[in-house]
Amino acid sequence: MTPACIGLGANLGDAVSTLKSAVAALRTLADSRVVALSCLYRSAPVGPAGQPDYLNAALQLDTTLTPHALLSALQAIENEHGRVREVRWGARTLDLDLLLFGRDEIVSADLTVPHTELTARNFVVCPLLDIDAGLSLPDGRLLASLPAARDGNGLVAIADRHWAD
Ligand code: ATP
Ligand code: CA
Ligand code: CA
Repeated sequence: MTPACIGLGANLGDAVSTLKSAVAALRTLADSRVVALSCLYRSAPVGPAGQPDYLNAALQLDTTLTPHALLSALQAIENEHGRVREVRWGARTLDLDLLLFGRDEIVSADLTVPHTELTARNFVVCPLLDIDAGLSLPDGRLLASLPAARDGNGLVAIADRHWAD
């Protein structure tokens, strides 16, 4: 089993319901077991102006899926929730990113792990630290040591880690 971390985001429609439904779908994912969920956060949007705020969270699952099979499963769950790919970083009903896959470093046409923007985004780093304050990157750097870990700019925790129970 490999521990994988997934980032969840939504900023269209009933974002709380969408994220709860996405967590439920991940809890039934084949060959995988969700072992930890972060608090729920509200964050200011990245990308095109005029979008609603985002809701963000992260979860950890133990899986025997390959990284690419896991990415495909995440994209299938996005599609089930009405994700339509339009503008890069534009508004979306559901965004599921594969943030970390054990200590693997992957660079391929459709998958880069750790996720390229992970270290720069407080709305990714802070939820990951809820899951495990001792999490580190494949290069050994502790997530807790990153500037984003202490950057509360635009980020508010709005529910504890039982929000999807
Ligand atoms: P960002 O990647 O900056 O968070 P985004 O989530 O809005 O932006 P998407 O439109 O959801 O980007 O994804 C674009 C492509 O990124 C996908 O088609 C996917 O193949 C690729 N991709 C590469 N690495 C990853 C990863 N670690 N997790 C999810 N998608 C990835
Ligand atoms: Ca994303
Ligand atoms: Ca994405």
